[in-house]
Amino acid sequence: MPLDIKDLVTSRLGENYELHDRHLNRTLVKVQRTIGFDIVYARAEGAYLYDMDGKDYLDFLSGFGVYNIGRNHPVAKKAIRDILDLDLPNMVQLDSALMSGLLAERLVQRLAQQGAPHLDSVFLCNSGTESVEGALKFAKAATGRPRIVSLKNSYHGLSYGALSVTGNAAFHEGFGPFVPGCETVALGDLAELEAQLKRGDVAAFIVELVQGKGVKFPKDDYFIQAQALCRKYGTLFICDEVQTGLGRTGKWFAFEHWGLEPDIITLAKTLSGGYVPAGAIVTRRAIYQKTFSRLDRCIVHSTTFGRNNLACAAGLAALTVLEDEGLIDNAARMGTYLETRLLGLQKRHDIIKEVRVKGLMAAVEFSEPRGLMPKMGWKLVHSLDASMFPQLIVTPLLTKYRILTQVAANNADIVKILPPLIVGEKEIDRFVDALDAVIQDLGKFPGPVWEMGQNFVKAMRSADEREPAAAR
Ligand code: PMP
Repeated sequence: MPLDIKDLVTSRLGENYELHDRHLNRTLVKVQRTIGFDIVYARAEGAYLYDMDGKDYLDFLSGFGVYNIGRNHPVAKKAIRDILDLDLPNMVQLDSALMSGLLAERLVQRLAQQGAPHLDSVFLCNSGTESVEGALKFAKAATGRPRIVSLKNSYHGLSYGALSVTGNAAFHEGFGPFVPGCETVALGDLAELEAQLKRGDVAAFIVELVQGKGVKFPKDDYFIQAQALCRKYGTLFICDEVQTGLGRTGKWFAFEHWGLEPDIITLAKTLSGGYVPAGAIVTRRAIYQKTFSRLDRCIVHSTTFGRNNLACAAGLAALTVLEDEGLIDNAARMGTYLETRLLGLQKRHDIIKEVRVKGLMAAVEFSEPRGLMPKMGWKLVHSLDASMFPQLIVTPLLTKYRILTQVAANNADIVKILPPLIVGEKEIDRFVDALDAVIQDLGKFPGPVWEMGQNFVKAMRSADEREPAAAR
């Protein structure tokens, strides 16, 4: 039988979770089934996903920030179709191909327009974690120094180098030992940073300017001071813009918010246009050349698929759409609208502790409410499981209001959203109104939402008991 992908999808759609349970990450499927996330999405367009009955779901997750231009964008689709139709030689490897040259040129032009003409040399790769790996290697090669400093609560990816600088113990458990010489410091603590840098052996200080885990960022000039310390002690300043880059925070690059001049930036996610994995390291020529320092080192850092034509076409399409549709400005405007509406909600609900918004990267942090009944519900759920509470927001948002959002971090009462940058007030209103209704339901204790939390905890525990960790 010849392969017909369209027939295959039509005939087998709906078997998704059984297939994953059998052949892929069974533990993830269990969690998805327990929390009501086992929806079969059949189609996607722009800011919406559609299930098999054609019901719409507002996608305020964007594939963890991949779909800044919205899903299945016609310009990205056309670029990929066109590149396939051209039958270009792809990944000859021992040549210098046009498409990767064009994507690099476009990125460098954009950076120059955003006030960073010094970032003029590009290394293309396939993912965020891979861009971080490369950035760390570049920094070590350029400085000849062995250590890397990063921030607590940071996320830089899960391959060994990136994981070693990820300041989040939950991702470390079970995987040590890690790359030596990696140290974390607290966001905002300049003295702690200086104590590290002073030793004179730190190759790079790597930061997410807006932390993905919880959307945390300093309100003061911490980053400017940190950059100055890096300069003082000869440490390179790396901005991991994998999530914040390409418009997410309402500027092309998050470093623009603070007028920073990073030595290296990393990009991925939206650079793929949502189709083909793509990542990039962009740095100064002088730093770049320290890695590729002799002719016999010309491919000392490389990756087979890094400069592939499909990724480059998708990347060019993504950059074009961001520009042509004014999505960076839209992210900034909609971010302001979202913040205003969420702050309005905070005034009415004391369970909202803080609202953090940077463009269309936003988090709502919760804390123990004052009302007697909801306080009891809060205490009960937290005594059962320290990380369950935000799920009580995220699940009804999905199952009752058909809005996809996420729990932001382990053991933190934070809900996070990453809407595509194409959203308007209509989508933001739908989200904020639904959040309002879900929070109102939390006021009922005993009530269905708190009961759901207890049921989740019970279901998770019994799943763990049935299948102990060692057997998984
Ligand atoms: N760095 C940051 C700041 C990220 O947000 C992510 C992904 N969430 C990564 C690195 C890793 O990217 P990837 O999942 O593509 O490897």
